[in-house]
Amino acid sequence: MKANPYLLYLKCSDCGREFSARKVHTFCPDCQAALITYYDLPTARRQLDRDALRARPRGMWRWRELLPVEDPANEVTLGEGDTPTLRMPRLGAALGLSQLFLKDESANPTGSFKARGLGAAVSRARELGIEKVIIPTAGNAGGAMAAYAARAGIRAHIFMPKDTPQANIQESRMAGAEVVLIDGLISDAAGMAGVKAREEGWFDLSTFKEPYRLEGKKVMGYEIAEFFNYQLPDVIVYPTGGGTGLVGIWKAIAELAELGWLETNKRPRMVAVQAEGCAPVPRAFQAGREFCDFWTNAHTLASGLRVPKSFADRLILNTLRESGGTALAVSDEAIFAAQSEIAKQEGLFVAPEGAATYAALKELMRQKWVTPTETILLLNTGSGLKYLDALQ
Ligand SMILES: *Cc1c(COP(=O)(O)O)cnc(C)c1O
Ligand SMILES: [Zn+2]
Repeated sequence: MKANPYLLYLKCSDCGREFSARKVHTFCPDCQAALITYYDLPTARRQLDRDALRARPRGMWRWRELLPVEDPANEVTLGEGDTPTLRMPRLGAALGLSQLFLKDESANPTGSFKARGLGAAVSRARELGIEKVIIPTAGNAGGAMAAYAARAGIRAHIFMPKDTPQANIQESRMAGAEVVLIDGLISDAAGMAGVKAREEGWFDLSTFKEPYRLEGKKVMGYEIAEFFNYQLPDVIVYPTGGGTGLVGIWKAIAELAELGWLETNKRPRMVAVQAEGCAPVPRAFQAGREFCDFWTNAHTLASGLRVPKSFADRLILNTLRESGGTALAVSDEAIFAAQSEIAKQEGLFVAPEGAATYAALKELMRQKWVTPTETILLLNTGSGLKYLDALQ
C-alpha cells in the first residue's frame, strides 16, 4: 500500500501527547480532547507546488498530500469540494459593502459541506480496516455518512433527534443506514451512540471524537485561499455547530502559512454565528471563558446549529480569539428573513444555517465591526432544499 510521506502523527489538542497516525484513534483518553493531525510541512514546502495543485482535476482530493488518506485507491469520493465562491452584489449594495462573497457549499454531494468531513473520515476509516460506523447527528452529518459509507461498503448506524428534517432521515435510510430516532437533542443522541459504539465495537464518527472529519473540512480553507489568490478575506462568517469548519479553516490557514503559500500576513477575523435559542459559543466568548457551558433547552430550526456544547468548544473559542474575531447569535426570525432575502436578491436557496451568516453580518455592520471596503466571506453550508419541513 502507498503511504503519504507527509503524514506525521496526531497530537492531543490539550496535553500535546502524540499518537500514531497509522493506527485507529478516537480522542485523547486522558483529556477527553480532540486529536489534531500534523504533517511534515517543511518538507512539503520544498516539494509541493501550489499552482500544480490548482491545475489538478477538481475536488477535495487534489489536496491529497495534505490529507490523511495514504493510498489514493482508498479515497471514497462522490465529487465533494471545489464549490463556487460567488460575489453577492445586491446584498452587498444593500448593506453598503463593496466586497461581499459567499462560498456555496450546497453544491456538495448530499447537499451540505458535511460531505467533506465524512468523505475524509469514511475514507480513512476504510483504509484502517473499519467495517462499521456510528454517528449521532443533528441531520446532515448522518446523511453524508450514510452516503459515503454506502459507497465504501461500510455498515452505517445513525442516531438522530426525531425532529431532524425529513430529508436527513430519508436520505440516510435510502443509503441503507440503520436510523434510530430519539426523543432529545444531538447531545442525547451522542450519549446513546457512545454507549452503542462501546457495546458493539462500532467506530464513532462524532464531531471531533475522531481526527479526520476536521481534515476534510479544512479543505474549505485551502479553497478560500486559492480563490482569493492566496490573499485571504478580512472576515469569514461561519455558522457554528460543532465547529469543525471554523477550526478547520483556521488550521488550513496555519498550514498554508507554514507552506509559504500565502501572499500576505493578513489573517481573516473568524466569526462564529449561532442561533439565539442555542448560543453557547457567543455566551462563553463574551464572558471571556475558555469553555462553553451546556446550553439547556436548545431550540432553533437551523438544526445544524442545535449543538448545546461542542466537544471542541475550547478550540472554537481559541480560533475566535487568535483571529481577532467574534461570536454572535441571531433569532430564527432573522434567519428566515435572511434566507428569503438571499433567494430573492441573489437567487440562492440557502440552508437556514447559511442564512444565519447574512443575518449576523447585518448586525456586525450595525455595530461597525466590519467596514464598507473590507472583503467579507459568508459560508453557506447547505441547501435550503433539505429543510422544507421547517418552512411552513
Ligand atoms: C453541521 C452543520 C453546521 C455546523 O457545522 P460545524 O462545522 O459542525 O460547526 C452548519 N450548517 C449546516 C448546514 C450543517 O449541516
Ligand atoms: Zn491529552
